[in-house]
Amino acid sequence: MTGRLYDVAIVGAGPAGSSTATYLARAGWQVALVDRAAFPRDKPCAEYLSPAAEPLLRDLGVMDALAAHPLSRLLGFRIYAPGGGVIQGDFAATKGSDGAALFASGLAVPRSRLDLALLEAAAGAGAEVRERWSLASLALEEDCYHLQPAGPASEPIRARLVVAADGVHSVVARRLGLARPAALHKVALVAHMRGIGGLGDYGEMHVANRRYVGLAPLEPRARGDLCNVALVVDEARDGCKIAGRAEAFLLESLATFPGLRGRLADAAIVRKTLATSGLCTHVRRLSGARLLLVGDAATPLATTIPSPARASSGRCAAHSWRRASAARHWPPVTSARWRWRATTAPTRPSFAGSGRSRG
Ligand SMILES: Cc1cc2nc3c(=O)[nH]c(=O)nc-3n(C[C@H](O)[C@H](O)[C@H](O)COP(=O)(O)OP(=O)(O)OC[C@H]3O[C@@H](n4cnc5c(N)ncnc54)[C@H](O)[C@@H]3O)c2cc1C
Repeated sequence: MTGRLYDVAIVGAGPAGSSTATYLARAGWQVALVDRAAFPRDKPCAEYLSPAAEPLLRDLGVMDALAAHPLSRLLGFRIYAPGGGVIQGDFAATKGSDGAALFASGLAVPRSRLDLALLEAAAGAGAEVRERWSLASLALEEDCYHLQPAGPASEPIRARLVVAADGVHSVVARRLGLARPAALHKVALVAHMRGIGGLGDYGEMHVANRRYVGLAPLEPRARGDLCNVALVVDEARDGCKIAGRAEAFLLESLATFPGLRGRLADAAIVRKTLATSGLCTHVRRLSGARLLLVGDAATPLATTIPSPARASSGRCAAHSWRRASAARHWPPVTSARWRWRATTAPTRPSFAGSGRSRG
């Protein structure tokens, strides 16, 4: 097999892949960053970034690009219980040892914009980006991987190392026999909506009836009311009700949450609703011969929800480059796993603000 030879091929240009590509390209590596999609592209996601993400986004050099559109800053989250009680957590209430607030706000940014900015940063750092390049298979022969794309239009590539950043259904992990079946059977429906009443400067999480929905305002209140609405339901119980009528199901479900009553009269879906399932992945190992898994390809989604408690993917990705750097002297699997745990454990302060009950 032929194809240009790179130091590293990164499969998947989501936050994990693009961030890894930026750091490695900055370090002087020859990087190929491939993705089957053409950017900007949408991704089912609640589109909320914890306050811990912003320093990483600054370090990646994308804050100016993101701020080209008015940025939605969230002051915290409100959690609505099935019985009507509400708990509010304020980011600013999280204090460091000196008593000063650690964070002011989180962000809510459409993934089409966030991921494009991260991809452009990787390209700007020197990574060679190939869009509409879908990995079909890969094989390690002697000291280099041969990556074969699907379809004749794309060229194969070769790389001394591979970073699998191809998301929760990682083709790399499956092709190399590293994936284990997911145990969590949930379906997520993600819409962009306008007209939801009572939105403020807080994200919202509503829990009721074995379903939950997250609301993340995507525009500053003064500029508009575009809102991400991410509903997660049981696949076994609700899956058959969704088929062929995702948007109707979403709207019907929203009306069942006590905290949304009276707020939906003018609500309308304004973008094609995205659906995803199999939200959880498990892998046998996080690294292998000349291989590293990052982002969702490596990380069991602990909550699988649009959760304020989930550490941002950017955070995981920013740490992943260190492991990739170490891969020049490929570490034993056990130490790689240890390092991953040490660097990606959820940052408690990102949502440890003292809550107050409003219900
Ligand atoms: C419903 C839901 C809500 C969520 N809400 C939040 C939230 O509010 N905040 C948060 O921080 N996280 C949230 N997450 C998690 C977040 O979306 C992921 O952690 C994040 O997208 C992982 O980034 P990644 O780069 O690892 O993978 P992805 O963003 O999934 O990117 C993987 C990329 O790989 C590409 N790819 C896949 N297969 C191939 C192939 N064969 N060849 C080439 N390219 C390929 C895809 O096109 C894609 O661009 C949510 C997840 C879900 C499902």
